[in-house]
Amino acid sequence: MSKSEIIKYACPQCSRKTRFEIWKSVNVMLNPELRWEIMNDTLLKFRCKRCGFEQDVAYALLYHDQLNKHMIWWLPTLKEEETFQPEPSHQMLEMALHNYRLRVVNTYNKLKEKILIFESGLDDRAIEILKRYMWDVRLRDQGIAYEWIFFIERNIVPIHTEVVFSISPPGQEAYQIRIGGPGGYTRASDILYRVCGVPKDEITKWRIVDRDYSDLAQMGRG
Ligand SMILES: [Zn+2]
Repeated sequence: MSKSEIIKYACPQCSRKTRFEIWKSVNVMLNPELRWEIMNDTLLKFRCKRCGFEQDVAYALLYHDQLNKHMIWWLPTLKEEETFQPEPSHQMLEMALHNYRLRVVNTYNKLKEKILIFESGLDDRAIEILKRYMWDVRLRDQGIAYEWIFFIERNIVPIHTEVVFSISPPGQEAYQIRIGGPGGYTRASDILYRVCGVPKDEITKWRIVDRDYSDLAQMGRG
């Protein structure tokens, strides 16, 4: 079930109060239209009827995909360095949901990235290892810095999975890089499952899987 609430939101520009729908949780099997509204950035868009001011409004949202078995909890107030502790009601969910991937993210772009990774049938833990590997082997030596790297899509190619990332160097336009062959996702998942010994079926638990994940996996805490 998807849950929403109507609030009175004051326009930051003209102060007029307008009714605005806040989504607490989104079940995309029951409401597939909400998935599209998230991906095209319209779900959070506030538009003032008086002055036309537009703004993205950030609030806590639980994204639930029953078909692909994942839940992503977007908490905009969660700081990167903060140790994440799920609330009791969310711990109840952990116990009820077997074989689910449960993720916590602190930005909207990370929410969208997780959705795309899981819908592509990929493991976001291997994706984070691949990002790190790409950085260590291909980018750092070329003096390429970046602010963020996001997964964009998976290409269907024979044998080895090919993935496309969007990379944003500081102060420059984002561009795409394509990583395939045996040194790409195939190698990253091999490092994850075989070298780090992380089970494919993870223990159902809320967790953050981001750029620090590669270090955790190498330390045996993946
Ligand atoms: Zn206004």
